[in-house]
Amino acid sequence: MSDIIKLLPDSVANQIAAGEVIQRPASAVKELLENAVDAGATAIDLFVKEAGKTLIQVIDNGCGMSAMDARMSFERHATSKIRKADDLFAIRTMGFRGEALASIAAIAQVEMKSKPVGEELGTCLIVEGSEVKSQEPCPCKPGTSIAVKNLFFNVPARRNFLKSNTVETRHIIEEFTRVALVNPKIAFSMTHNEKPVFRLPKSAQKARIVSIFGNIYNERLFPVEQKASRIDINGFIVKPEFARKTRGEQYFFVNGRFIKHPYLHHAVENAFADLLPANTYASYFINIGIDPADIDINIHPTKTEVNFQDARYVYAVLQSAVKQSIGKHNLTPVIDFDKDPAIDAMFVNPSGEIKQPEITINPDYNPFAGSSSQQGGSTYQPPAPKGDKNWEKFFQSSDNTGKDASQLTVEHKEDETNKIDDNKFFQVRNRYILTNVRSGLMLIDQQKAHERILYEQFLYSLENKQAVSQQQLFPVTLQFPPVDAEIIRSLKEPLTLSGFTFDVIGNNGFVFQGIPEGMKESELEGVLEKIIESEKKKTGNLNADINTALAKSLAARMAVKPGTVLTSPEMASIFDSLFACAVPEVAPDGSNIVAIVPLSELEKYLKEKGK
Ligand code: ADP
Ligand code: MG
Repeated sequence: MSDIIKLLPDSVANQIAAGEVIQRPASAVKELLENAVDAGATAIDLFVKEAGKTLIQVIDNGCGMSAMDARMSFERHATSKIRKADDLFAIRTMGFRGEALASIAAIAQVEMKSKPVGEELGTCLIVEGSEVKSQEPCPCKPGTSIAVKNLFFNVPARRNFLKSNTVETRHIIEEFTRVALVNPKIAFSMTHNEKPVFRLPKSAQKARIVSIFGNIYNERLFPVEQKASRIDINGFIVKPEFARKTRGEQYFFVNGRFIKHPYLHHAVENAFADLLPANTYASYFINIGIDPADIDINIHPTKTEVNFQDARYVYAVLQSAVKQSIGKHNLTPVIDFDKDPAIDAMFVNPSGEIKQPEITINPDYNPFAGSSSQQGGSTYQPPAPKGDKNWEKFFQSSDNTGKDASQLTVEHKEDETNKIDDNKFFQVRNRYILTNVRSGLMLIDQQKAHERILYEQFLYSLENKQAVSQQQLFPVTLQFPPVDAEIIRSLKEPLTLSGFTFDVIGNNGFVFQGIPEGMKESELEGVLEKIIESEKKKTGNLNADINTALAKSLAARMAVKPGTVLTSPEMASIFDSLFACAVPEVAPDGSNIVAIVPLSELEKYLKEKGK
C-alpha cells in the first residue's frame, strides 16, 4: 500500500492560517493600523472602498522598510519585534507573531510601497495570493503604504460569508476607533468611498475622545488615575448621570491594545455602584499599563482578550481607581428617573373606592367576521390640529395610504345625517377608548392603536419612496459615537423618506433641519437612539428589514402615551385611521389593540355581578 499523507501546498496552508487572523475587512484594518503604530508613525491615514471589500489602504510616515525587509515582511513568522523566545515575555504589546502580513497577502492582492527615512529610493512590491508578482525600486515618501485589494478574491466561500457593507463598515470603524483612542499622539484619518469619516489631529487623550465621540463628552468625562506597583491605570470615565441606555462606550486598553474583559468591566460597574440610573451602563476609556511579565500573552493575537497573572489584583486596583475618581470629583448624580408624571396621574384614584370592573371577553369571538354588509368609511374629517400635541396631525392623514376603510359595521356610520356623534367615544382612564359597535362594546388601546397607524404610514412612505410631511427645525446639531454615527449615515435614504433631513458634518456630527411632522424636537435624539439600538440588534441585512425596523421605532416613539387626554374628535380619528389600516387588530409589537365585549357578555355580567 502506498503512503497517503501529503504536505499541504504552501498556498493552501497559508490560506487556512490566514483565516484565523483575517476574518473580515476590519481584521486587516486592525493589523495594518497596529503595524503603522509600531513603526513609530505620527500620522496614519486609512482609505477604504466598499467596506474594505475592494480596498483597504493604510499610509503611514513611520520608519519604513528596506527592500529586503519589505520582501521579508510577507513571510510567515517574519517579525522585527521578537528575536528570541525570551522576548515573548518582555514585549509591551501583544500579538506579535509575524503573521498578519503573510495572512493578508495569502488572501488578497497587496501593493506595498515603503521607504526608510533617509533613503533615496523606496521599494514597490506586489504580492497576490502569497505569490510575489513584482518587486522594484520606486520613488516614494518615507514611511509605508500598504494597499489591500479584493480581500478573499481567492477564497470565494469566505467572501460570500461577509456581511453587508453597512455591517462591515461598522466593524472597520470600531477597529479604527480603538486604535485611534489609545494613540492620541498620532494623527489619524479615515476616508470611505472618497468621503471623509474621521479627521483626528494629534491631541491629548481627552481631546481625542471628544473628537471621536462628540463635543458633548467634554463635560462628561472625569479622569481616572492610579499608580500601583507593577500597574499603572489612567484614562477617563463618563459621569454616571450621562450613562447611556444602550450598551455605552466601554474601552479597556492593556499596554496600548484594546481588550475586552468582563471581569474588569465588573470592577468598574461595581465602583459606580448605585450611582448609575437603572438600565444604564457605565462608559469608560481606561488604559492599563502592566509589566508584560504579568500577563499571559499566549492568547491568540486576534482575540481581544488577555489573561492577567493576578486578575484579582488588577480588579482591586481598578476598582479603587474609579472609586477615587468618583469621590475626588464629587460626582453627585442627578438621577433622572425618566418617568412620565402622566403615568403616575393615571393611577391616582380620586375617591379611593372605585373598583375597575373585570371584563371577560370571549376569545373566540371574531369581530371581523360576518358583519361587513355596510361598508364604507366615515367621511368625517377631524378639525385642523390645534395646540402642540405631537400626534394630533397624524390622525388626519391616515387615508393617504389609499387603503380600504373600515370593514367594521359601526353604528354611527349608519346615520348619514350625523356621521359621528361625539358622545360615542369614551376614554377610560386616559388609556382606552370605548365605543359602540353593532355587536357590543369595543375597547381600543389608544397607544397601541396609534402605534399601528403611524407604523403603517411610515412603512408606506418608505416602501413607496413617498416622503412623509415634514416640519422645519432651527438646525439642531447632534454628535454620535462612531459606530452609531455610521448607522445614521447608512440610513440616510430611509430617514429622509421618513421626514428627517440632515447633513453630515465633521467627525460623526449631524445637523438636522427637518423632522417628521408631528414629532417633537426634544424627541429627536431619543428617536434616533432607538433606531440605532434596533439596527444594532438586527442580524439580517435586507432593505425591507430596515424599513420595518425604522417604521416600528418611529411609531413606538411617537405614539400617544397612556395618560394623554383625548378629545372626542381625536378618538374618532384614531378609530377611523385604525380601521383604515391593513392590520388593525394587532400592534407592530404583536400586542392586541382591540377587543369587543359582546352585548350578551354585558348582559351576563350585569346579571351575575351587578348590584
Ligand atoms: P508583526 O507585526 O507581528 O511583527 P506583521 O506581519 O504584522 O507581523 O509584520 C511583519 C513585519 O513587517 C513587522 O515586524 C515589521 O517589521 C514590518 N512591517 C509591517 N508593517 C510595517 C509598517 N507599516 N512600517 C514598517 N514596518 C512594517
Ligand atoms: Mg503586525
